Amino acid sequence: MTDSPCPCGTGKPFDRCCGLYLSGKAYPQSAEALMRSRYTAYVMGNLPYLRQTWHPDTRPELSAEDLNTEWTRLEVVRSKQGLKRSVVEFRAWFRDGDSERALHEISLFKLHKKRWVYVEPLSEWP
Ligand SMILES: [Zn+2]
Repeated sequence: MTDSPCPCGTGKPFDRCCGLYLSGKAYPQSAEALMRSRYTAYVMGNLPYLRQTWHPDTRPELSAEDLNTEWTRLEVVRSKQGLKRSVVEFRAWFRDGDSERALHEISLFKLHKKRWVYVEPLSEWP
C-alpha cells in the first residue's frame, strides 16, 4: 500500500497523503483533509482512527460491521472551511452488486481540542 495512490483520490501516494494521518505521524490541518482521511479509514478498516476523528458528543458505537461496505471512490463536491466549523459535501461511491452507488452527504466538522473532528450530517448546504 506504500507508494500506491491514496484511496481518497488526491492522486498522491498513500504514504504522503492519508497514510500520514492514519499512522498518527500528522493530523489533518483542514476539514476536507480530515474527511478524506476518514474515507480512507473506512476503505482500510481502521476503526480506531474513525473513533478518534469523531466528535465525542455524536460518536456512535462503531463495530467491524460498520466496515462491510466496499467503497470504490470518493468525490468531494465542495467544501467551506471556517475557523471553528467547516462543511464538506461529498459523494462516496460503493459497490452494490454489479453496479456502483453513492452515499451523498453534507458533513459538519468542528474544531475540538484544536483538531478537526467529524460531527454529523447536515440536511442542506448552510
Ligand atoms: Zn488520501
